[in-house]
Amino acid sequence: MNRENPVIAVVIPCYNEAEALPISSKEILAIIDEMATEGLVSPHSFILCSNDGSRDGTWDLIKSLNGADRRVKGISLAHNRGHQYALLAGLMWVRGRCDAAISIDADLQDDPRAMIEMVRKFRDGDDIVYGVRSSRKTDTWFKRSTAHGFYSFQKAMGLDTVYDHADYRLMDAKALDMLSEYGESNLFLRGIVPQIGLKTGIVAYERNPRVAGESKYPLSKMLSFSIDGITSFSSKPIRMIFFTGLIFLLIDVCVLAYVLYSFFEGNVVPGWSSLMLSIWFVGGIILMSLGIVGEYIGKIFVEVKGRPRYSIAEEVE
Ligand code: UDP
Ligand code: MG
Repeated sequence: MNRENPVIAVVIPCYNEAEALPISSKEILAIIDEMATEGLVSPHSFILCSNDGSRDGTWDLIKSLNGADRRVKGISLAHNRGHQYALLAGLMWVRGRCDAAISIDADLQDDPRAMIEMVRKFRDGDDIVYGVRSSRKTDTWFKRSTAHGFYSFQKAMGLDTVYDHADYRLMDAKALDMLSEYGESNLFLRGIVPQIGLKTGIVAYERNPRVAGESKYPLSKMLSFSIDGITSFSSKPIRMIFFTGLIFLLIDVCVLAYVLYSFFEGNVVPGWSSLMLSIWFVGGIILMSLGIVGEYIGKIFVEVKGRPRYSIAEEVE
């Protein structure tokens, strides 16, 4: 891996981005040129557009961009698989062809100039550099608060992600190799990459409005993305079933005291005492049993993923 004169690959997942891509590819090429002139990156650095089954002529556009400048390369997925898969396909394609890859969206909402700082950090020895939004001034109040709500909720559910980091990041060749070991189908890169470890850095940037086109991520997609993230990384929700059961049993003890009191006071309908007690008791037992079964399913779930159990970062012999 060459940190002195690195070949950088900028990976852009593209779904119906015919409006935004001409603008963004041009701007990114200009930044690559600027970095090459400064001697930060090799002039062989390139862009890889990963077309995610677009229906609006994005692929034809990528081919014509490639005709005009060979540094714009492209792959096209057989059908629309979603942002995470388009991105992974791109990262795996550039793996072995570059010293570091930077993933960025086609709409330039993430300030492309932050790439320069990412490359500097990579040259100084970082293996993974996360782009983190310094503010969300340009997002609507609704988008901003729902997004922050999701981060807190995910954290509470046992999913560790980098706060305010989307998929704008630099990964070097070593990190890409380690990423390739994760064979899971429910892909949530924001959860996987922090698990890789290695030497990481952070670059803050301003989030801008889309340069063109419209968002492909409405609230419903964000919600299911967040739930996918949690259920792909954490079995905490399962443990919560167990503890809910435990709480039910504790409530049962209080109900017992109340029922006995009412019983001896004599103001009860026949059958009420036993019903009251059994509802909480049986409910508690059922929930706890579900939780126990869930613990085993949680273990199976981790095994089935077949994730690497460890990754060696460095060796001396
Ligand atoms: N994208 C993709 N496949 C999809 C949806 C989106 O490859 O099914 C790409 C899209 O082209 C863009 C990036 O993922 O480059 C982020 O999408 P978008 O900007 O619409 O999401 P938002 O920023 O609004 O959350
Ligand atoms: Mg966007």
